[in-house]
Amino acid sequence: MTTATKTDEKLAVLAVKSNDDSHITADNQHCVRCEHRPCVQVCPAELWAWNDETGQMSIEHAGCLECGSCLLVCPHGAVTWCYPEGGFGVQYRQG
Ligand code: SF4
Repeated sequence: MTTATKTDEKLAVLAVKSNDDSHITADNQHCVRCEHRPCVQVCPAELWAWNDETGQMSIEHAGCLECGSCLLVCPHGAVTWCYPEGGFGVQYRQG
């Protein structure tokens, strides 16, 4: 039985040309003290992960959908985000 939604179907046809240089960074000094870490919760691509053992935030920038949500929700201004360099990033194919 499949549970794919219309959103899942549309995300499945995206193309992402990844750049080695990340266009997203987070200042871990803020992340370690952040109570809710909303970036982990809001990212539609689930690219953010907090590791309790290492006390580090990780970001898999390669699958970024360029929605900007992580930048907007960070209560500490710890996220640095820009669009990927020209020629890189997500390519939407269905609206
Ligand atoms: Fe995730 Fe959107 Fe931030 Fe990209 S811009 S990392 S898709 S929340």
